[in-house]
Amino acid sequence: MKSQDNCVFCKIVAGQIPSNKVYEDDDLLAFHDIHPKAPVHFLVIPKSHVDSLAECGPGDAGVLARIMLKVPELARLAGCSNGFRTVINTGTDGGQEVFHLHLHVLGGPRDQWQSPAF
Ligand code: 5GP
Ligand code: ZN
Repeated sequence: MKSQDNCVFCKIVAGQIPSNKVYEDDDLLAFHDIHPKAPVHFLVIPKSHVDSLAECGPGDAGVLARIMLKVPELARLAGCSNGFRTVINTGTDGGQEVFHLHLHVLGGPRDQWQSPAF
């Protein structure tokens, strides 16, 4: 059994688990976090499964760049008019709970964020 066979984010990509989508194209999916830690909190993932940033190689360079370059546009569309935070938790000590690479985008008024957000 491959790791992605039981991956919650692969199931979201496949439409087997519902999500509140922010953006989708052939390579990327962005959707709202189910437990938001700030007024804006969504996740951006590559559709193709990779466990974490630590497992990425040269073949992932394109999708990583596409994620990073898409984030400011998505943050702006989500209402982040005054900045945003990006977070990638990697591995157990990094606080990663879902082992399908994802980038958190958090924004909105700072006094409305959960403390600590991360
Ligand atoms: P991590 O700690 O791995 O960086 O963050 C995983 C994030 O995924 C958490 O913020 C958690 O709330 C979110 N999450 C976990 N399961 C689901 C789900 O089924 N749907 C959505 N939308 N978010 C999820
Ligand atoms: Zn996956």
